[in-house]
Amino acid sequence: MTRPVLLVTGGSRGIGAATCVMAAGRGYDVAVNYQSNARAAAEVVAACVGKGVKAVALQGDMADEADIVRVFAEAKAALGPLTHVVNNAGITGKSGPLVDTDAAIIRECIDVNVTGAILVAREAARALIASERVEGRALVNISSVAAELGSPGEYVWYAASKGAVDSLTIGLAKELAGHGIRVNAVAPGITETEIHALSTGEAGRVARLAPLIPLKRAATADEIAEAVLFLLSEASSYTTGIILKVGGGR
Ligand code: NAP
Repeated sequence: MTRPVLLVTGGSRGIGAATCVMAAGRGYDVAVNYQSNARAAAEVVAACVGKGVKAVALQGDMADEADIVRVFAEAKAALGPLTHVVNNAGITGKSGPLVDTDAAIIRECIDVNVTGAILVAREAARALIASERVEGRALVNISSVAAELGSPGEYVWYAASKGAVDSLTIGLAKELAGHGIRVNAVAPGITETEIHALSTGEAGRVARLAPLIPLKRAATADEIAEAVLFLLSEASSYTTGIILKVGGGR
């Protein structure tokens, strides 16, 4: 039997990388998209191949329509028709109150997290509808608990972008249900990745906020990946259109 084929956008680091490696361990062939960190993507590919599946690294900016379309085509050419997609690439922009935030930071975040995520979802829908494999096809979008909490003083524009991901999930799940394709989201809470140091600009963010989390710690990327793998798998075969919060009680 042929293996399921998964594309993860932003699969080179953090939650996306953990998802790629965990999926490989569960028998998926994996296309690892990245934007600029080719070395990190190559390490993820090597870890996947080490688990006995096929894997490929695909560069592409998930805010750019032409790149998105190309990455989907390259994934199919390398691994065969896609059966699963994780719409994960995302950024915050430098944190701060909205009154102090330039339009360029807001625009860049919305370009990746909203316009890009919607275009990735469109290509995922096209690819999964066209796939000859009809069993178990699924899309998982990566949202954030920020969509509910609003992230005051940090990045309300990012929180708003994840609110859009939630609406996308609810609507597209209804559009694709007739095709037998499930669409869900995972909304992580604070998770130990490089996003805090590299995207928000606050390296100490996890340590500062951990005491405020009911479980008193950040998530590991593997803890988020477990929820993603559940929603990709047939263990969740009757679940579509949900936003699964994995936030340690936040
Ligand atoms: P991360 O560690 O900063 O990794 C980001 C990944 O996305 C990298 O693989 C990066 O590629 C890729 N990427 C960024 N912009 C891209 C673009 N325009 N096109 C293609 N790839 C792009 O981030 P993370 O913490 O794992 O976050 C992953 C997702 O989870 C995001 O949607 C984020 O909003 C969400 N999330 C994270 C947290 C958290 O606390 N960490 C909480 C809630 C939600 P390169 O390696 O090439 O740079």
